[in-house]
Amino acid sequence: MTHHRPDDHTGGLAAVLAHPDDESFGCAGALARAHDAGRVVRLLVATRGEAGQPEGEDDPSFADLREDELRCAASKIGFTEVTVLEGYPDGGVADMPFAELVDEIALWLGDRRPDAVITFGTHGITGHPDHVVVGSATRWAVERLAETGIAPHAIYVMAPVFGPGTKRYDLSPEEGAASHRIDITEVAGRKIAALACHASQPDAAQEAAEVQALLDRDGVLYEGYTRVRPAVPNPHPKFDTRLV
Ligand SMILES: [Zn+2]
Repeated sequence: MTHHRPDDHTGGLAAVLAHPDDESFGCAGALARAHDAGRVVRLLVATRGEAGQPEGEDDPSFADLREDELRCAASKIGFTEVTVLEGYPDGGVADMPFAELVDEIALWLGDRRPDAVITFGTHGITGHPDHVVVGSATRWAVERLAETGIAPHAIYVMAPVFGPGTKRYDLSPEEGAASHRIDITEVAGRKIAALACHASQPDAAQEAAEVQALLDRDGVLYEGYTRVRPAVPNPHPKFDTRLV
């Protein structure tokens, strides 16, 4: 699912996530804004999302459907490249050898040299074990790259404190308070459209409706992030407003 050769460009912003749809829930707005600002925007996803089938169904082509939905969302957001790792089962990433996952992420990042990386914080927003382990492995991968002097300048974790689902989850401290608040109002329609691409996932449609309602109510929409590497103190009195 690679759209361009990785050596076409380096730099920019890369998201390392677990499932098709994580990008639309989590960081579509900031990524769309980075794309519009002329940055290279990439996505690495650990699984094909095959566990997201309706209860009781077992359709072997379901993973293809979810990849198609991801491709749809990627076109709304403006990804330069989307890569799906091979061999990691949806729901079972934490059962795979952790060091190999770190190796694969480090290799992918090392080839592309993004300026900054977005991933999951320590509770993975929803607590999903795939989210938690991908976030952890990504941070280990960046530390490994730092040893050879090619680490991204920053790691941000998604801090969904401005979205509609904030109260739903047991967020870790780094996810429950944002160091960066990104105004995504001008690309809100594309975040909603990206969520709508994931038509097999009822919660994505619900999120799209709730994001739209929030936008209608406030007239403005934000995504929150916390920079965890290098660590920064809490912002005061103004938020930073860009990631790269
Ligand atoms: Zn997920």
